[in-house]
Amino acid sequence: MLDVVIKGGTVVDGTGAAPYTADVGVQDGRIVELGDLTETATRVLDADGAVVTPGWVDVHTHYDGQVTWDDALEPSAANGVTTLVMGNCGVGFAPVRATDHDALIDLMEGVEDIPGSALSVGMPWGSWETFGEYLDVLDRRRYAVDIAAQLAHGALRFYVMGERGAANEDATVEDIAAMSAIVGEAMAAGAVGVTTSRTIGHKARSGRPVPGTFAPEEEVLALAGAMGSSGHGVFEAIVAGTIGSLDPLGGERCKQIDEVPLLVAASGASGRPVTFTVAQLWDDPDHWRLVLDAASEANRAGARLRPQIIPRSVTIMTTLDGYHLFMGRPTYRKIADLPLDRRVVEMRRPEVRRAILDETVAKGSDIDFPAMVVERFVEALPITFPLTDPVDYEPSLGDSVWAQALAAGIDPVEHMYDLLLADGGTAFYAVLGSNYVGGNLDACREMLLDPDTVTGLGDAGAHVLMISDCSASTFHLTHWARDRTAGERLPLEFLVRKLTGTNAALYGFDDRGTLEVGKRADVNVIDFERLRIRPPLVRHDLPAGAARIIQPAEGYLATLVAGEVTRRHDADTGARSGRLVRGSAA
Ligand SMILES: [Zn+2]
Repeated sequence: MLDVVIKGGTVVDGTGAAPYTADVGVQDGRIVELGDLTETATRVLDADGAVVTPGWVDVHTHYDGQVTWDDALEPSAANGVTTLVMGNCGVGFAPVRATDHDALIDLMEGVEDIPGSALSVGMPWGSWETFGEYLDVLDRRRYAVDIAAQLAHGALRFYVMGERGAANEDATVEDIAAMSAIVGEAMAAGAVGVTTSRTIGHKARSGRPVPGTFAPEEEVLALAGAMGSSGHGVFEAIVAGTIGSLDPLGGERCKQIDEVPLLVAASGASGRPVTFTVAQLWDDPDHWRLVLDAASEANRAGARLRPQIIPRSVTIMTTLDGYHLFMGRPTYRKIADLPLDRRVVEMRRPEVRRAILDETVAKGSDIDFPAMVVERFVEALPITFPLTDPVDYEPSLGDSVWAQALAAGIDPVEHMYDLLLADGGTAFYAVLGSNYVGGNLDACREMLLDPDTVTGLGDAGAHVLMISDCSASTFHLTHWARDRTAGERLPLEFLVRKLTGTNAALYGFDDRGTLEVGKRADVNVIDFERLRIRPPLVRHDLPAGAARIIQPAEGYLATLVAGEVTRRHDADTGARSGRLVRGSAA
C-alpha cells in the first residue's frame, strides 16, 4: 500500500519532456512509481484534468528573518514553491555578535524593506552567533516548504571588520583570511552558497551601502575561492549597474557589463556556478543583451555563469497602506497614522486634497524612506497601471495612469491621488519598473529562452510593502503558457523545467526538481485552466503588527512536500514536512 497516489493527471515532469498522462505513486516521501498504477494508497488525490509538476524551486528569497518566527512561509507556499533559497544579495543574519543585532536589522530593513520592528521583536536574537549555529536553530524548526541558506557577504564583513566593514573600508590581508575561513566553516555547516551586493541601490536604512559593495577583486575572489574549496555552493551577486545608473544616488561606479569579468573570475576561482540578476532597464534598454551575450561567450570558454531573470517586470506596488506618491507631503504626514478608513475620509476633503496636491516632499525631512522613491513615483506615472482583477502584467501603455489622465484631460498626479482613494483606499497600482520597455515583455521571452538563464529574483520575504513578485512563479504558467496575447507564448514543459529542474540543478538539489522514480515527492497538482494570481492585499500579520503585501494564487489543487500534502485547494493544511536543507559536496 502506497502513502499517496496522484491519479490520472498530466505529468509535466520538470525535465522539459513532453507532458504525458500518468499516476504518481508516493511512499516514504519519495516517488516510487509513475504510470498506470493499480496499487491502493492511504490517500488518493484525483488529478483528472489537472497538471502534475514538481514543486517550484525558488532560488531568490529573503526569508532569513521570517524563518525564525514563521513556519507557513507565505506567500511562497501559496504559489507552489516547495524549496526556497534565502540569504541572497549579500544580506543575512549570521554570523552576528550579540552587540551587533541592530546593525544587521538596519541593513535588512534598508536593503530589503523588511520592518525593523518585526525583525527585532520576531527573531530570537542571541540564539546564534556563527552561521552554523544559525542553521542549527533553523534545523530544529519545521516548515511548510524546504529552506536553504546562503552566507551573506554583508553580515560576514561586518562580523569580521566591524565598523571598518560597514564603512566599506578596504579589507586587510588578515581580514580577507578571516572572512575566507568563516566561508569555509559556513559551507561545511551546510550553507548552499555565498552572496554579495555591489550596487549602491542596496543601502542600509541609515543610508550606507551594504558592507562589501565596494570590495575589490581580491576580496570577492577570496570568498568565491573559499566557497569553491568546499566542493559545493553557488556564488550569487547583485553587481554594480544591475538596476541602472542610479544617478539620483550619486551614480554607480560602472555598467553591469563592466562587472562581467569579475563574475567570470569568481567562477574560475571557485569552479562553481555564479548567478547574478539581469533585467531590462529603462535607461539602457539593450544592455541586458550585451550582458547575456558576454555570459554565454564566457561559458563557451569554460565559465559557469547563470544570469538570473524574472519573466515579468519587477512590480513596484503603490497603495495607501504601502508606499505612495503623497506619503512624504506635510499635510499627508499629519494624517498618516490614522486608520485607513479615516485617512480616506480626510483625504477626500477638498481642502486636504488641495493642500496635499500643492505640496512637495520637505527637503531634509525625517521621513523614513528614501525621498527618491517618492520622486520616482511621479516620473513613473506613464508606466503605472492598475492591479485589478484579473491582474494584467503586460498591459498596453495606453492603460497607464498617465495616459488615462491625459485622455480625460486631468492632471496625472491628481488622477493618481483620486485613484488611490478608490475601494476605501485599498486600490493597488503598480510601476512596471523593468523588462517592459516598449510596453511589452518581449525582452523577458528572449531572456527565458536563453539556455544559460535561471528564473528567480522574486525577492519573496523582502520588500514587504513594495514588491510581491513571489507570484512570478505562478505567472510563468498563467501568462507565458496560457494568457499572453501581446506576443508569442512558451511551451508549458519548458516553463516548468525553468521553475524546477533547472533551479534544483543549479543548487545541487539532486534529490528533487523532477518527477522521476526515486526523487522526493515535492509535487504541485494544478488546475491549469483556473490557475490565477489574485490582486494584492495588505495584511498586518508580521511580528509587532507590521504590515506586508500578500498576493495569493488560486488553482493549486494540492502541493506536496516530501510526500505530505501541505496545501489543498489553495489553503494551508497545517502539515509541516519542510526542513532545512544543508548543502554538501556531492
Ligand atoms: Zn534579493
